[in-house]
Amino acid sequence: MTVESGTQDVSAQPSRAEARDGFDEINILWISEGMSCDGDTVSFTAAGQPAVEDLVQGLIPGLPKVNLHNKVLSPSLGGEEFLAPFRAAVRGEMSPFILVIEGSIPNQNIIEGDGYWTSFGNDPETGEPLTLNWWIDRLAPQAWAVVAAGTCATFGGIHAMAGNPTGSMGLADYLGWDFKSQGALPIVNVPGCPIQPENFMETLVWVLYHAAGAAPPPPLDHMLRPQWLFGKTVHEGCDRAAYYEQGDFAKDYNSPKCQVKVGCWGPVVNCNVPKHGWMSGIGGCPNVGGVCIGCTMPGFPDAFMPFMDEPSGGAMSATLIRPYGALIRRLRGITNVALNREPKWHHNEPELTSGYDPYWRP
Ligand code: SF4
Ligand code: SF4
Repeated sequence: MTVESGTQDVSAQPSRAEARDGFDEINILWISEGMSCDGDTVSFTAAGQPAVEDLVQGLIPGLPKVNLHNKVLSPSLGGEEFLAPFRAAVRGEMSPFILVIEGSIPNQNIIEGDGYWTSFGNDPETGEPLTLNWWIDRLAPQAWAVVAAGTCATFGGIHAMAGNPTGSMGLADYLGWDFKSQGALPIVNVPGCPIQPENFMETLVWVLYHAAGAAPPPPLDHMLRPQWLFGKTVHEGCDRAAYYEQGDFAKDYNSPKCQVKVGCWGPVVNCNVPKHGWMSGIGGCPNVGGVCIGCTMPGFPDAFMPFMDEPSGGAMSATLIRPYGALIRRLRGITNVALNREPKWHHNEPELTSGYDPYWRP
């Protein structure tokens, strides 16, 4: 089963030829002061194809020179030195730049004049904290591309769950789903809690090749996710799916079998982690024993809680597949026993019994 995520007509997006010649150098201004845990920044450092070191050292052929400004990875002394490029960008002196937002965007309106939910640096004149919202309002309209890193920044995520006090939301909820950057790109959403390292890196590299004038815009679906990464479900890439098809389900978390009855949401979640692994093909979620909790999805986490209960749809499909699965498993078992025998002519007796016909001997 494929869960259709919708597609955007790529041909309708601006092509490189009509738009511009491409940049030789570009800045990445990464603000992780959304309602965030910095998990996406940390995850990003685990990318291997390419690695962040390759990116910033210019080792990837055809990419613009990249100046990465991320507080966790910054070689600056921090404070005002780190903030300098962000302040320059607000003044319009840092073009072109890609704005990366990590963490969800709180609703300042509900506390206007009464403090701030999250801030990034201070106003030099008043000494008052500058809110994340203040920065987004000034930087997003000037950015060549705007990228949301992680489910918090894309769809609100954990910090926007029911009962939260901050009124948090995703970047597209804040800027508008029809927002277009200076490079005529929609917001590029890379969900995941955290982002799978290469999912983010691949997307960033595609945006950078586009900035270099060497690639079309990245194809995004109706939730602004890269189509090639989020177009299939977890289940479609899970190596436990054969157990599902045979109606063979894990009863607890110590089993190598399909985990749908102990809480896996994989069949209805758009994500490629089990197919890809986490780092260098190692790790993942249901493929290695952890139920899929739908952390890449716009409805995460509320739509998937409580995580360790069986999804209601899973109960129905597991029940339906049981009789077929039991029969097919038994038949396959019989065939498997037969295939686990060597042919009877594999022996060390004096007589050849392989069926060789001496007629063909020269
Ligand atoms: S998406 Fe997950 S990893 Fe990223 S900031 Fe939010 S809680 Fe942290
Ligand atoms: S463990 Fe989850 S994703 Fe894997 S086969 Fe079972 S239901 Fe599908």
